Amino acid sequence: MGRKTDESRKLQKRAEAVIPGGVDSPVRAFRAVGGDPPFIVRGQGSRIWDADGNEYIEYLGSWGPLILGHAAPEVVEAVMDAARNGTSFGASNPLEPELAEVVLSAFPRMEKVRFVNSGTEATMSAIRLARAYTKRKYVMKFEGCYHGHADALLVKAGSGVATLGIPGSAGVPEEFTQFTLALPFNDADAVDQAFKKFKGQIACVIVEPVVGNMGCVPPAKGYLDALRYITSRDNSLLIFDEVMTGFRLAFGGAQEVFGTAPDMTTLGKIIGGGLPVGAYAGPAEVMDMVAPLGPVYQAGTLSGNPLAMAAGLATVCYLRDNREVYGRMERAAATLVTMVVEAAREAGVSITYNRVGSMFTWFFTEVPVTNWTSASRSDTAAFGRFHRAMLDAGVYLPPSQYEAAFLSAAHSDEDVRQTVAAAREAFAVVEAR
Ligand SMILES: *Cc1c(COP(=O)(O)O)cnc(C)c1O
Repeated sequence: MGRKTDESRKLQKRAEAVIPGGVDSPVRAFRAVGGDPPFIVRGQGSRIWDADGNEYIEYLGSWGPLILGHAAPEVVEAVMDAARNGTSFGASNPLEPELAEVVLSAFPRMEKVRFVNSGTEATMSAIRLARAYTKRKYVMKFEGCYHGHADALLVKAGSGVATLGIPGSAGVPEEFTQFTLALPFNDADAVDQAFKKFKGQIACVIVEPVVGNMGCVPPAKGYLDALRYITSRDNSLLIFDEVMTGFRLAFGGAQEVFGTAPDMTTLGKIIGGGLPVGAYAGPAEVMDMVAPLGPVYQAGTLSGNPLAMAAGLATVCYLRDNREVYGRMERAAATLVTMVVEAAREAGVSITYNRVGSMFTWFFTEVPVTNWTSASRSDTAAFGRFHRAMLDAGVYLPPSQYEAAFLSAAHSDEDVRQTVAAAREAFAVVEAR
């Protein structure tokens, strides 16, 4: 209503003329929720400001990295210090082993780590390595899990049984995904059956241990252990894609929270503290197959970039030295999530929620969401109305029903209170079904 959007609209028009859809990553175009995407000019703590001067409490955290909030002083200082000494060398710098040591201390089952520039690069490289190590071709993933946009992982799943991969994007030849098996999430029997059918041929299983990319969906009790058991039985590697959950759910990620040990771990988002970093880690025996020690090629002009390493170090060291932030974020997120659900009920709007730690989703459906099939029953039009009303009320949520929201260490009780008040207003304009 009262929110100005002229400047952002103008910028969007200008961007659309020169950038496809006006965006450098599709979901930013707000197609899933409607309305005009605000152009963001500044962030501080839990708040962002757009080009029209509107202020928002936000729960995007740059899609996960900003666990300390926007422009956290530790991170900004570390980046400035690093920048003064040169932005990139294309040669090793001391921050690389330093960050590697802290990352490995958080994931004690991982012995070596290689830094790359994005989560996409991390998963793509981990899979290449798993295939080389096992000398097998097939990769198993789960419907609704996102592992970046590498060809082999851009597969929309079939349902119920293992189906041979059908590319989820134009421009990906079927031949490139013919070794990708896509199964429903949270169904251990389906995995067991697929392993019987493809015995000795599956190089690895890659999974988001808590899914964030169909909205937040936790693993069913025993599911991760079942994946561990089935993969070990067939000498296949289990890869936890902790690009989102690593350092988010706990210092040691989902594998610390659920106590299941994968063979390899992919990381990103938080380990870059808001700058572009990804990483893949595993046992020395596996990781030492990467060039220059082994035959698996993987490289990067800007990999281990000193600015990115500095931002990542500042972030993960803060988390290491202030672990109490996890409890605080968890309590704040729990309060927020349940109070918003209560506000929905009072307004006669039916929603359900999933939350693990500071990661959560309000699904506009009555059924519990445990996999892609149940997630996709959500009323996305109602979510869109809610999203737009929340923006008008000064709260910026992820612009899709199927993206997890994040609370940061910078969110205060007052932020939570204001967000709940905004939700009350917003539900009043979301028609009850
Ligand atoms: C964000 C994400 C990726 C992709 O990372 P990018 O840096 O966007 O390439 C991969 N896996 C998971 C689980 C993610 O959340």
